[in-house]
Amino acid sequence: MNTLCVPSGPESIQTAADLLRRGQVVAFPTETVYGLGADALNDAAVRAIFTAKERPADNPLIVHVAEQGQLEGLCHVTDTAKKLMDAYWPGPLTLLLMKTSRVPDVTTAGLPSVAVRCPRHPVALALLRACKVPIAAPSANRSGRPSPTTAAHVYEDMQGRIPMILDGGNCQVGVESTVVDLTGDIPCVLRPGAITPQDIAAVAGNCTVASSVMRPLKEGERAPSPGMKHRHYAPRAKMTVLVGPDENVTAEMIRRYDAAENAVILAHDSLLPAFGPRRAFGLGNSPRESAHLLFQRLREMDETGCTLILAQGWEAQGEGLAVMNRMARAAAFDIVEL
Ligand code: AMP
Ligand code: MG
Repeated sequence: MNTLCVPSGPESIQTAADLLRRGQVVAFPTETVYGLGADALNDAAVRAIFTAKERPADNPLIVHVAEQGQLEGLCHVTDTAKKLMDAYWPGPLTLLLMKTSRVPDVTTAGLPSVAVRCPRHPVALALLRACKVPIAAPSANRSGRPSPTTAAHVYEDMQGRIPMILDGGNCQVGVESTVVDLTGDIPCVLRPGAITPQDIAAVAGNCTVASSVMRPLKEGERAPSPGMKHRHYAPRAKMTVLVGPDENVTAEMIRRYDAAENAVILAHDSLLPAFGPRRAFGLGNSPRESAHLLFQRLREMDETGCTLILAQGWEAQGEGLAVMNRMARAAAFDIVEL
């Protein structure tokens, strides 16, 4: 299959919408990362996403809609869900709600709940409006790889597997949406994102964070969010995350870099001058900037052929929680506190 990568505009968006309506798979930009979309209510179309991504069938997809009204008949919208949608939609917030039988089991990997989101990226919204069906879309990477934040990343992973990529430039947020489970009494963050647990609590009155957000699952433990049990965001190189005061992180990074054969450093911009001629990449100067850059940097560092990535983390709270959740998984939980 030939994969067309086309700049987004009214015509290419219409072409993509036509492909989606015919049961094809199309990649498109959202404000978080690129998505790999198909008609969420078409069994065969959704199966084609799993095939293109090589995604395990037990990892459910997020269903994207153009507006709240499109949820009618798909899931049971609770009062808390309504409040959160009013506050944060369109935006990087995914809600888990009980599904109806209209949503095929393949979309939710057999779960009784469905994940729903209305993205705020103008291209995503225009596409959802044009195709008039809800679109199931996971991130547009091959399973296990870092999520794509540019059309070029999608092309790297999906070339020959899908007919079309809509190119809408760089994704603003850079990490996937916050996933909040609303099927219990208290909203629970299963995957942190740009909208923080504090943001959720400010609207819903209360919010917890699943313990598996910052630690590996125990042997035999059931994942509250199936995506969490799979290897994720993994660069090819081994990665270690270092956290602590800047001076300690700098010194330990230099020590480990010099002792290794082929390492690269990923650190906050303010630290970069301290590394002299060593190969070092910048991760911005705030958790928000790091979220925007992280997946792109993981791919860039892999391209150097390095075998070890020494990465500086953030405190795992507020906006830092989303970054550390991804870094922890990219590093297979090899986190060193200094
Ligand atoms: P992706 O869009 O690739 O980031 O994948 C969507 C993620 O949302 C999955 O990895 C799941 O962990 C989560 N998710 C989607 N639907 C459900 C659901 N019904 N229950 C729990 N988690 C879900
Ligand atoms: Mg993904």
